[in-house]
Formats: sequence, structure tokens, C-alpha cells
Amino acid sequence: MKIHEYQAKEIFAKYGVPIPAGRVATTPSEVETVAREVGKAVVVKAQVHVGGRGKAGGIKVGKTPEEARQVSEKIIGMDIKGLKVEQVLVEEAADIKEEYYIGITTDRAARRNIVMVSAAGGIDIEEVAVSDPEKIAKLHIDPAIGLQDFQIRQLAFDAKLPPAAVKGIGPFMKALSRVYSDYDCSLAEINPLVLTGDGTLIAADAKINIDDNALFRHKELAQYQAAQEDDPIEAEAHKRGLTYVRLDGDIGIIGNGAGLVMTTLDVVQREGGRPANFLDIGGGAKAEVVRLAVDTVLLDPNVKGIFFNIFGGITRGDEVAKGLLEAMSDLETQVPIVVRLTGTRAEEGLALLEGSALTPASTMQEGARKIVDLVKAA
Ligand code: GDP
Ligand code: MN
Repeated sequence: MKIHEYQAKEIFAKYGVPIPAGRVATTPSEVETVAREVGKAVVVKAQVHVGGRGKAGGIKVGKTPEEARQVSEKIIGMDIKGLKVEQVLVEEAADIKEEYYIGITTDRAARRNIVMVSAAGGIDIEEVAVSDPEKIAKLHIDPAIGLQDFQIRQLAFDAKLPPAAVKGIGPFMKALSRVYSDYDCSLAEINPLVLTGDGTLIAADAKINIDDNALFRHKELAQYQAAQEDDPIEAEAHKRGLTYVRLDGDIGIIGNGAGLVMTTLDVVQREGGRPANFLDIGGGAKAEVVRLAVDTVLLDPNVKGIFFNIFGGITRGDEVAKGLLEAMSDLETQVPIVVRLTGTRAEEGLALLEGSALTPASTMQEGARKIVDLVKAA
């Protein structure tokens, strides 16, 4: 899960990291109010889940509250890489002398977390990694002992940071490392870490990605998740506890098991169809889950047909069939539905479906062909 810059800064602030004074706003007049509260030149920053906001015109300085309001009128509502800007962070503009990069991510090959420090901060660190890899100092963290002071000094020297920065960077690195492990991050970075005109360091940007598999340990972040989902159907599906990803085709896909569903997407594609979604109802799904799944897929107005592909192991074919029949009577949907049931209690399931409007299929390929034909004919 990605969280916004202002949310990441709230977290870093709890760990003692200095961040510019300010807060988030959603309208130009609110921006002006915040700028007045700050009482100095401010920077207005688009809050969207992509990098490179600066280059895209999503970050602008306002020297006066009026100017802040004016620049925010351009930023609020603008489109950055397909995402609409609904919120901006308004905060005291930093007096930037130099910009550095500090970050931690997981190095899967090394099976360790890796810390990175660079004097070439501010811009895209991925570009630096390609063009000047030697400009990024790196070090793996031993999980048993954590990030040590001598390692922080080593990284700062290797990155050729100036003495003022070497002196001040310790608390930032420690906070970064603690945030990374406390929040089960897959990425935590401060870019730029700014050296100001008076020689102090401040976090001008902050980014945190949290491992979705650990979200159950961070209930307090649920509010961030609700606010960050851009697709309303995905948001609704997750509220219903379904693993759903929206795609841009017109054939709804429902199956049990991520691998089976992904294969189904491929097979439908190969038969000339375009999947509208990925939906995995998981193992052992009961009738109610099946009904919810159909209902969710149909929230997408592009859906012209549904292909149900169930391989019964712990999922029982008769349960799936019951759910489908309930869904059909509840939802009064007209779209064609093709069902392939195999495995545990598949015969019982298919018997239940007999006489209904559902189209049975005995293999995945046959089912894919049938739904593609039905949708084309519709
Ligand atoms: P990103 O492009 O999405 O990573 O957004 P950042 O927050 O990193 O900002 C990009 C660039 O905008 C920074 O590297 C700075 O050069 C500039 N910038 C950000 N905040 C300020 C600020 O407070 N004052 C000034 N002058 N420039 C800023
Ligand atoms: Mn940045």
C-alpha cells in the first residue's frame, strides 16, 4: 500500500524527523488559510501516488498567501500521470542548498534490507542508479543487530556528503530504519533530504510503501487505505473482503485461486476476449461469497458477460452453484454467464444448475470460447 507524502511525513514526525510546518488542503481558499498560518513562503505539493510530481508541474512555490492560492488553482484538479489531484500539501518552503537521498528497501536476492544514501538527491534516484550507480552508497542491514552508528557514518562518507550533513544525518537514518521495520515497509525514503542555507537538515519529501500482507498489524493505517483507493469498484470489493483488480475489458472473470484466475485471464484473451477484472474468491468459498463476487463484477458497467472457472478442492461445486443461483435470482442480471465446475462435488453443482440460464462448460478452454462467443453475439 502506498500512502501520501503528508501521511508519510506524519509518521516520520512521530519519530522525531524535522519536517516543514504545514498541512493538507483541498481547496484554493483553504490553501490560502494554511499559507497565512505558516506565515512564510510556502510550497504547494500535489498529493498523488506517483513520483516526479515536480517535473509534472505538481509542485509550486507561493511567496505570499495570495500567490499560494493562485498556484493551487492550477494544481488542484490537474491530472498527473492519469491521477487527479484532490489534495495538496501546503508547507513552509525549504531554503534548499543541497538535496540528498536516503532510503531503505528490501533486497530479495540478498535476503536483507538495504540502506542507500546519495548526494545526488532530489531527482529520480532510479535514473541515478542507471547513469551513475557509484553515486549511491549502499549497505545491507544485519537483521539481528540493525543499523549501527558506524555504518551510518560509513554510508555518509561513501556518499561524499559534506561535513554538515555527515554530522546531522544520524537521527534521520535511525528514524528511517525504525519506521521501515515498525511499519513493515517495502520502501521508505526521504528524497530530498534537504541541507538548508543555515546548515540544518530537513525532510522535504517522504515516501512510504507498506507491505499489504502486514496491513492487519497496522489497523491505524486503514483510514489511509480507504482514502487512497482510486477505483471505486476496487475499494468496494476490498471492503467486501474480495481480491479484485479492475481491468479494461468486458468479460468478468471469477475463479478460485490466484493462479487459476490468472490463467483464465490468459485463456480468455487467447480466445479473442478482453477480461474486465481479476477476482479470486479463494478456497472454500461459500454461496454468499459467490453471490457477492457476481454482484461486485457487475458493478462495472462494461461487463457484458461472466466466466466462472472453479476447480473444486476445498471449494465445493454445489456451494458455488447455490451461490450462483442466488445471485441470478437476486441480481436479475441479463448478462450471459458461463460456468466451468470441476473437482469436489462438481456433478452435484452442475445438476443444480440444470434448467437455469447459466451455460455450463467442461473445460477452461471450452468455457473461454463460449463466453467470448456469447459476449460477441450480445
Ligand atoms: P517528487 O518530484 O514527486 O519526488 O516531489 P519532491 O517533494 O521530491 O519535490 C521535487 C523537487 O521540488 C525537489 O527536489 C525540490 O527541488 C523541489 N521542492 C520541493 N519542495 C521544495 C521547497 O520547499 N522549496 C523549493 N524551493 N523547492 C522545493
Ligand atoms: Mn521526491
